[in-house]
Amino acid sequence: EVRVRFAPSPTGNLHVGGARTALFNYLFARGTGGKFVLRIEDTDLERSTKESEEAVLRDLTWLGLNWDEGPGTAGGAYGPYRQSERNSLYKQYAEDLLKSGHVYRCFCSNEELEKMKEIAKLKQLPPVYTGKWGTATVAEVQEELAKGTPHTYRFRVPKEGTLKIDDLIRGEVRWGLHTLGDFVIMRSNGQPVYNFCVTVDDATMAISHVIRAEEHLPNTLRQALIYKALGFPMPYFAHVSLILAPDRSKLSKRHGATSVGQFREMGYLPQAMVNYLALLGWGDGTENEFFTLQQLVEKFSIERVNKSGAIFDLTKLRWMNGQHLRVFPPEELIKLLGERWKLAGILTESEGTFVEEAAVLLKDGVDLVPDSDKALSDLLSYPLLATLGSSEGKPVLEDKLSEFALSLIAAYESGDLNVALEEGHTGWKTWVKSFGKSLGRKGKSLFMPLRVLLTGKLHGPDMASTVLLLHKAEKCGAIAPQAQ
Ligand code: GLU
Repeated sequence: EVRVRFAPSPTGNLHVGGARTALFNYLFARGTGGKFVLRIEDTDLERSTKESEEAVLRDLTWLGLNWDEGPGTAGGAYGPYRQSERNSLYKQYAEDLLKSGHVYRCFCSNEELEKMKEIAKLKQLPPVYTGKWGTATVAEVQEELAKGTPHTYRFRVPKEGTLKIDDLIRGEVRWGLHTLGDFVIMRSNGQPVYNFCVTVDDATMAISHVIRAEEHLPNTLRQALIYKALGFPMPYFAHVSLILAPDRSKLSKRHGATSVGQFREMGYLPQAMVNYLALLGWGDGTENEFFTLQQLVEKFSIERVNKSGAIFDLTKLRWMNGQHLRVFPPEELIKLLGERWKLAGILTESEGTFVEEAAVLLKDGVDLVPDSDKALSDLLSYPLLATLGSSEGKPVLEDKLSEFALSLIAAYESGDLNVALEEGHTGWKTWVKSFGKSLGRKGKSLFMPLRVLLTGKLHGPDMASTVLLLHKAEKCGAIAPQAQ
């Protein structure tokens, strides 16, 4: 059975790198009918906070990456799912390893350990443990225990040979064991060490595939040795490459927004975030880049994950957001935009046909939801027919276009244009045709000046819909007074 985990340390916000790791785990679990486990790695008690844990859970939920087992109410047969609640388990396995001889008690003081390091440095040797406790006699150990000397639990590493794993993304990875040296798995205060906790957890939670960031690859050596010693079957490993900034350095705060929460606040849609994160290191092998979460579940495979670093490109993320906005379910979009526009003081109402038409008209021209505020207020800012109909409009139009403009004003003042607009799209179409005919204009030479005179702009969304919307705005008082 496939069981994967996402194991965030709750020491800050969920970053795009972490979110991508979570996503790949989620996709793999859903695509294989396996389980997606969420484990909170809060062994660093000083840096871990409850707020950070809550924020991480909230961000994962926002992205739609729901987990099958995890802390709190989610439950599951392999809990608890917070490392801080699993101490007794780590102790128990540390004792087991002590009994089986994979681990020994080390009574070296800090000064002795420092000295070993210095000597190794002088001799230009790797800083491995050279103390005596790996080969001490039972009597020597008993003596220190009787004295109550503080001691760590140290893992016995073979002095030679190599260890290899077949990483599902990076292929074969080998390590020479001679440089590692015996390492501590439990400190003298009884605190288990990070690599030991992770291994006990992955083993006892029956994790089948460890999919995580490349930066954890060096930990894999120690973890694999502990796995073997515990006698648990080794999981598959898949180490995903780093996310890079456009200058190919590691993506960090100095490059701008990097946390999922920041993108949410800027108005990015979770659908677009998920789609874009999937493309950081993965593709389905075609040109296609647009995927819903469900499509990603169907298409994702670890074999297609790239082993070189992926560049985080904000322009592309923004474009991607626009792509998702275009196909957003209309009812949801209307609700979203209507509430925004009323809150922003642009419209008097948050619902109704006016809001619906405006939402549908504007959604193709903006990439981010918040950009629609400006798009709408720009669109409504031209006091269209009213200006044309008043005498102030006339002096400005003393040029080649004046015949055109004056005819348009005449059509407005006589009420012809209004009558036509009352009939919606067909009315407008018929009116434009006959208006063009009366001036001997059609195509661009008809539509360009019409657009400029009626909307105040050279370019914009579909003209018929824009004009009809402006007509409606005047009629029903949709525009909030402060926006006029
Ligand atoms: N807690 C680690 C982190 O947040 C993840 C460890 C792992 O996936 O093995 O980077």
